[in-house]
Amino acid sequence: MGETKKKMVKTIKIDLDKCNGCRACEVVCSAFHAKPKYSSNNPARSRIRVVFDPLKDVYLPVYAGEHAKAECMGRDKYVIDGKEYGECDFCRASCPSRDLFKEPDSGLPLKCDMCEDDPPLEKPLCVQWCLNDALVYEEKEEEVEEEVKMEDVEIGLESMVDKYGMQKVMDTVARMAKRS
Ligand code: SF4
Ligand code: SF4
Repeated sequence: MGETKKKMVKTIKIDLDKCNGCRACEVVCSAFHAKPKYSSNNPARSRIRVVFDPLKDVYLPVYAGEHAKAECMGRDKYVIDGKEYGECDFCRASCPSRDLFKEPDSGLPLKCDMCEDDPPLEKPLCVQWCLNDALVYEEKEEEVEEEVKMEDVEIGLESMVDKYGMQKVMDTVARMAKRS
């Protein structure tokens, strides 16, 4: 096993029962990402969108995640506490089957960047503006495997070649490649 290092993992926990659909999170996110910053607000530019169905009491904040090139085939339904949600309601992707999480002018996919700023914000803005505490910011340190740097690999190979000779190292690498 390789070396491990500590990494700060940022998460936002969503408490559906506390969301009342006020959409303050959408407003502040779109204003923060406007150019120039705070010059306008348009929820279509927000990296968080609230799935909104007041008649069924459904308010579901969803964060923009990775872009998906193709739409998926399945369309399951979920019933939680008597409220019905479609599978797409929970999906974080900007995908071809809907307009969500696309920059309205360019059509480019949007993704939550946790309000990256310089200097860094104490908490993401959607969390700060959610007066109902439906969004809770958490940071925790996790041990992750350290990536092997290319120069380390090169130094490792060099010393193996010195010790065993080039031919033997090449044969071993070829044997390992065949096995994988
Ligand atoms: S600001 Fe909070 S309560 Fe309002 S819509 Fe967003 S998550 Fe829901
Ligand atoms: S964390 Fe920042 S970028 Fe992400 S949705 Fe909230 S306000 Fe937008």
